Amino acid sequence: MIHIKDLRKTYKTPKGIFEAIKKIDLKIEQGEIFGIIGPSGAGKSTLVQCINLLEKPDSGSITLNGQVLTGLSEIELRAQRRRIGMVFQSFNILSRRTVFNNVALPLEIAGVKKEVIKSRVDELLNLVGLSHLSDRYPAQISGGQKQRVGIARALACQPDVLLSDEATSALDPETTANILDLLRDINRKTGITIVMITHQMEVVKQICDRVAVLSHGAVVEVGATADIFANP
Ligand code: ADP
Ligand code: ADP
Repeated sequence: MIHIKDLRKTYKTPKGIFEAIKKIDLKIEQGEIFGIIGPSGAGKSTLVQCINLLEKPDSGSITLNGQVLTGLSEIELRAQRRRIGMVFQSFNILSRRTVFNNVALPLEIAGVKKEVIKSRVDELLNLVGLSHLSDRYPAQISGGQKQRVGIARALACQPDVLLSDEATSALDPETTANILDLLRDINRKTGITIVMITHQMEVVKQICDRVAVLSHGAVVEVGATADIFANP
């Protein structure tokens, strides 16, 4: 359902052209939890920014459910970005909005009616286990709870894909495990495709069905998690 074909991305630097993505080909299936792993500098952030349409690749294509996402106009891009829900390492939630109003934000921007927003946000807060904290401000909740807000917000506009960029990297191991359980639960309940970008192998081992290993801007291995991380 996400088909990345012959993707290339270079940056111009004072020292010349730098190939952040040399060539990436990947097929991510509908409903799977797919991990993208690799050391710092491998090109993970660049790939994320190409998938969420914030960077334009130099060449190649990204197709989401049959719709080509590369080579679109700004207006088309804005519409397509809604199909991808982003979860960030730093949560990126707004300190002056309550939990409820943080989750409501993308729906407000999309022009959804107030009553519809209310029922949709209630449903999302229930899904991530935060109904009892809906009136709290970010400063009054824990890191794990902030990430639950981030996940609920990412799901608000019913995206086709949840793209998680180091979502658990700022959390302690126990909170990480809880967030991963939540993502697995959401994947089972809604069937949403989840792409997890991480440098933490434990994250991939815990929930990813398949994994691609990036190094120096290219995929060096791809396969079922159990095959990639075969125990000796
Ligand atoms: P990762 O997320 O795996 O750490 P990145 O995609 O951030 O990798 O970076 C891949 C390579 O591209 C790194 O060597 C990085 O320094 C370089 N890079 C990333 N963004 C830029 C940019 N805007 N300009 C120049 N080089 C960049
Ligand atoms: P991360 O580890 O999450 O990738 P970075 O600090 O590597 O964070 O990158 C943060 C931002 O800076 C990214 O948007 C990336 O594209 C950009 N960036 C990374 N490396 C470079 C670079 N060498 N020159 C310019 N921008 C860069």
